Amino acid sequence: MSDRRAFATIFDFNGVLVDDEELHREGFNHALKPHEIEIDREAYEAKYLGFDDRGAFDAMLSDFGQPRTRAIVDGLIAVKARFYEARARSGALKIFDKARDALALAASMGPVAIVSGALRAEITLALELMASTDEVGFICAAEDVAKCKPDPEGYFSAIDWLFNVHPTVALADAVVIEDSLAGIESAKAASLPVWAVAHSYERAVLERSRTDRTFETLADVLDALRARG
Ligand SMILES: [Mg+2]
Repeated sequence: MSDRRAFATIFDFNGVLVDDEELHREGFNHALKPHEIEIDREAYEAKYLGFDDRGAFDAMLSDFGQPRTRAIVDGLIAVKARFYEARARSGALKIFDKARDALALAASMGPVAIVSGALRAEITLALELMASTDEVGFICAAEDVAKCKPDPEGYFSAIDWLFNVHPTVALADAVVIEDSLAGIESAKAASLPVWAVAHSYERAVLERSRTDRTFETLADVLDALRARG
């Protein structure tokens, strides 16, 4: 490995590796039922996709004119987390085709990180279900940052990890795989190269963002990752 050039790959999680936005929407609605709030798919995609749980619950309560103390939001996050885990373990978590292959290929080419607004437990559970835990060297989850995407804080922490643990990897040899506009903004604000996969937004929409390249599916991303070597 030492005489080979190493490439770092930093994956977003929701919408890139796991197809769980509908599961999240169900979780938000389950938790918000006592508040008589229901978020339909259109509103969810337009307003809340890309937020972490705290940001989304905060925005939802605010949009419906309801009080949003830290204790209320903490309680909602906990209810949603229990719902998500139970549903995911019962087989409701959809993993994108080639997600496991993309992680394995990336890990064979250099360090792999995940930077996500998901809770750490959701990410580690999905990696466990995919048998991909060993491929990922670093996870920056919702609990690890003060500001969620589009803020670059999560990507800056991945850069810190690269500098400290893999100092021979050049940042120009790193790539971020994202699906959302907020995620692309976040990675570009950290000056990282970004490839977008059209899982959540139309390719034409992504092409108008600051992404460096766009791909239709993870299979196309896999081909491009392989071509880096
Ligand atoms: Mg995403």
